[in-house]
Amino acid sequence: MRTPLVAGNWKMNGSRDANRALLSSLKDRLGAIQGVDVAVCPPAVYLPEIAESLSGSAIAVGAQDCSDEASGAFTGELAGSMLAEVGCRYVIVGHSERRERQNESSAWVASKFVAAQAAGLTPILCVGEQKADRESGRTELVVSEQLDAVLDAAGVEAFDRAVIAYEPVWAIGTGLTATPEQAQEVHAFIRNRVAGRDPRVAAELRILYGGSMKADNAAGLLALDDIDGGLIGGASLDAEAFTAIVRAAGERVGA
Ligand code: PEP
Repeated sequence: MRTPLVAGNWKMNGSRDANRALLSSLKDRLGAIQGVDVAVCPPAVYLPEIAESLSGSAIAVGAQDCSDEASGAFTGELAGSMLAEVGCRYVIVGHSERRERQNESSAWVASKFVAAQAAGLTPILCVGEQKADRESGRTELVVSEQLDAVLDAAGVEAFDRAVIAYEPVWAIGTGLTATPEQAQEVHAFIRNRVAGRDPRVAAELRILYGGSMKADNAAGLLALDDIDGGLIGGASLDAEAFTAIVRAAGERVGA
């Protein structure tokens, strides 16, 4: 039985005041939510105070990126150990915005994944195809390349301590959501690919969907066999919408 995870990726949004208001509303609405793991991933500069304000609550904290190095002369970067020290449990690696803007290759993402786990963090590994890839029938090829780079570098058993987020790039922040059938198809493909290395790891692996998941489309996506939660961008900044998605995940059947 896989416990669903709903993680909010706040991206480069927020301020001290806005964060306080959002978190206070989330704590009130979610209370002692059971049966769903919940996390928020704010901008790094706010992590220590947010981790402190959420300590003892049911909401975990994650970072949006980490270095592939443990320490040293890497100006502007943050080591996994630093993120863990200030209270992070999760870290997103390989988000498409970073693959694009920072030119993060799959090999680089794999190194970040390994470094994050070495620091005791649970990586949320993002994979997903561009619109042109889907239109030219290359979705599985692209996702395999991104996934295999990490499987090869970290080994399949590392996925006992990791989460995958399938995020079709064309659906991120666009309002275009993959249909439940499109999403389920790729989620099943990912699980089968991991199962090719180790069926037990694959059966226990949480695979989240990300890409314009909202209150009104979450239930349809989360009802499917291989969709174990969501990585939520825009809707995670709205306490009511995020809570509705968490509740939909709590009603998820199967797995
Ligand atoms: C994301 O960036 O991880 C994401 C899923 O964004 P949105 O929900 O806004 O599409």
